[in-house]
Amino acid sequence: MFVNFCLAAAKGSGDPGRRSHRLFLPPPQAAANLAGGPTARLDFGGSSLDSQERILRLEIIKVCRKLESRGLIAASDGNVSCRAGEDCILITPSGVSKGDMEVDEIAKTCMRGNLLEGPLRPSSEIRMHLLVYRMRPEVSAIVHAHPPVATALTLAGYPFNSKVLPEVWMMLGKVPVAPYATPSTDEVPKSIEPYIMDSRAILLERHGALTLGRSLMEAWMRMEKLEHCAKILFYASMLEDRTAPVALSEAEIAKLG
Ligand SMILES: [Zn+2]
Repeated sequence: MFVNFCLAAAKGSGDPGRRSHRLFLPPPQAAANLAGGPTARLDFGGSSLDSQERILRLEIIKVCRKLESRGLIAASDGNVSCRAGEDCILITPSGVSKGDMEVDEIAKTCMRGNLLEGPLRPSSEIRMHLLVYRMRPEVSAIVHAHPPVATALTLAGYPFNSKVLPEVWMMLGKVPVAPYATPSTDEVPKSIEPYIMDSRAILLERHGALTLGRSLMEAWMRMEKLEHCAKILFYASMLEDRTAPVALSEAEIAKLG
């Protein structure tokens, strides 16, 4: 069932906005209810696995290119994953510039993180992804990036209040900040564990952000929205208690015709 969501997003690549209301309206708990328990697990059955997996790999490449082009990652930052069957995931490899990544470089691992396919080691943050998949059966895709403004808010201790903008609240809900944890260690999954069940997006102090979705496109759009909101919060903070710019005099305006 959820793979259909994933694949629908992958196939309809050109216009995510038209799908967004369907994708975003159910809050996490409602989505969990919609999932309907064990019967709603991924079903890749049989010979169509290869083509479905290829679509997901292409979708990961697309999300990675978006992350890089929007400046949400730099160098080999970030990692993207999705479920690819009952007991495996696809995840970006470690140490690779995500904007230049090839389809065949994406790692396939079991749910314990052991490499099943791929020429490169899976992301060093794979434990964070696997913990989310174990705790949230309805989550089919995860995006981790280092969005600069959202991350800067965590450095400054400035609250990310998603209730200030209606669309942000509807799309992301409450966005907690997980305390600092040494990247690529077991500290990272431990730091996010208390927030996983009730969050669609989690800020990682001094590190970046994590967004969850029922499809790769949904997880990507949540990341994009998170950074967009962080920019608005930042601009608003710069304008607080400032006087508005002085307008041209009416006489000067009159000269303009
Ligand atoms: Zn990171």
